[in-house]
Amino acid sequence: MMNIPKGTKDVLPNDSYKWQYVEGVARDIAKRFQLKEIRTPTFEHTELFLRGVGDTTDIVTKEMYTFKDKGDRSITLKPEGTAGAVRSFIENGLANGVLPAKLYYITPAFRYERPQAGRLREFHQFGVEIFGAKGAQTDAETIMLADSLLKALGLNVKLFINSIGCKQCRAAYNKALKDFFAPHLNELCYDCKNRFEKNPLRLLDCKEETCKKINASAPSIIDYLCEDCNAHFTELRAYLDLAGIQYEIDPRIVRGLDYYTRSVFEFVSTSIGAQGTVCAGGRYDGLIEELGGNPMPAVGFAAGIERLLIVMEQTGVKIPDPAVPTVYLAGMDAECRQKAFEVATKLRLAGIIAEIDHMDRSVKAQFKYADKLGAKFVAVIGGNELSEGVMNVKSMATGESEKVAFANAVEYFFNK
Ligand code: ATP
Ligand code: MG
Repeated sequence: MMNIPKGTKDVLPNDSYKWQYVEGVARDIAKRFQLKEIRTPTFEHTELFLRGVGDTTDIVTKEMYTFKDKGDRSITLKPEGTAGAVRSFIENGLANGVLPAKLYYITPAFRYERPQAGRLREFHQFGVEIFGAKGAQTDAETIMLADSLLKALGLNVKLFINSIGCKQCRAAYNKALKDFFAPHLNELCYDCKNRFEKNPLRLLDCKEETCKKINASAPSIIDYLCEDCNAHFTELRAYLDLAGIQYEIDPRIVRGLDYYTRSVFEFVSTSIGAQGTVCAGGRYDGLIEELGGNPMPAVGFAAGIERLLIVMEQTGVKIPDPAVPTVYLAGMDAECRQKAFEVATKLRLAGIIAEIDHMDRSVKAQFKYADKLGAKFVAVIGGNELSEGVMNVKSMATGESEKVAFANAVEYFFNK
């Protein structure tokens, strides 16, 4: 038997409607905020992610699916959606068009991680990018979009925000961090010893318990923000208040990606433990220039669709299955089945969800099967009905039956 690769998952037919539902809600909210979809390839030149994600991040150092193609090019399966969106935005000249560019995507992403609940090697993201606007109002709108999505999905989550400043304020902060961590260097994990040299900010992101303990008393970046970054952060908070969005400031949120500046945020569910971050994002004013475009501010987020679904499942959010048949047509004998086929065809052409037997089941077994499908009505066609030109329609909700002429079938089931 062939097995699925570790860290990947099938979405089976009885679950796919849940995905469609979450994706549908996401598209709907995106439309409400005037975002348009961008679709970029599943793989890109490796170079894009080295520059766009950052070579001190966990993603680049440990998690990428990188390989040589048959033309000896280094190719990487996208570990996130932002770098590809930015590449496309620049390459297709959109950066010279009307701003802001408000984009969204729904994409698979690939990371070589240790699989566990809510942490896969292939997962899916709904992502949002707004290019060209620098004001805190846009950060607030981005957060609000995420908040609207999570609320529309019925999730109860906590919002944490922080500012990680700009290059200027971060230089002073990095120094303060190094001074703080230097005496603890021996106690830090292997990765953090490297981070200490290359990118001390990243130390705050470590998930190892001992490192987390030390981190708890590290200096806060908020105390090191320059005047402009401080004003931007103050403005963001004012806009969030205006939008009625509650938040908590967590100075330890630094995000795993190198290109973030100023605002960073995470929406965390308390119901799935360690993998509780369902949505994360922030501002990354340095990225577009880093990838070869003219300097341009940007803000965005990505939500993990698997994690959203896990939280919905765990908190008992019910997702409606849109595909239940309005009517199941049960035919008694060969002639009646033919009639069922004929009526079902008419109903389907009129946009009504109808099902018939394909397995030569008895009428009793067809009833059982219709019930299993969740059919709202079962229409029985027997010899008598056939000669009268009617079907016996039973409402599965009330148990009541009535006769409906074949000729009136579409009219009868429309909007049922
Ligand atoms: P984490 O700290 O959990 O590793 P991250 O900082 O690597 O998250 P991002 O790169 O910000 O995550 O990705 C955005 C969102 O994508 C996350 O908040 C999460 O919901 C989802 N996500 C990230 N990695 C995975 C994964 N391996 N499996 C499933 N979902 C993921
Ligand atoms: Mg990660």
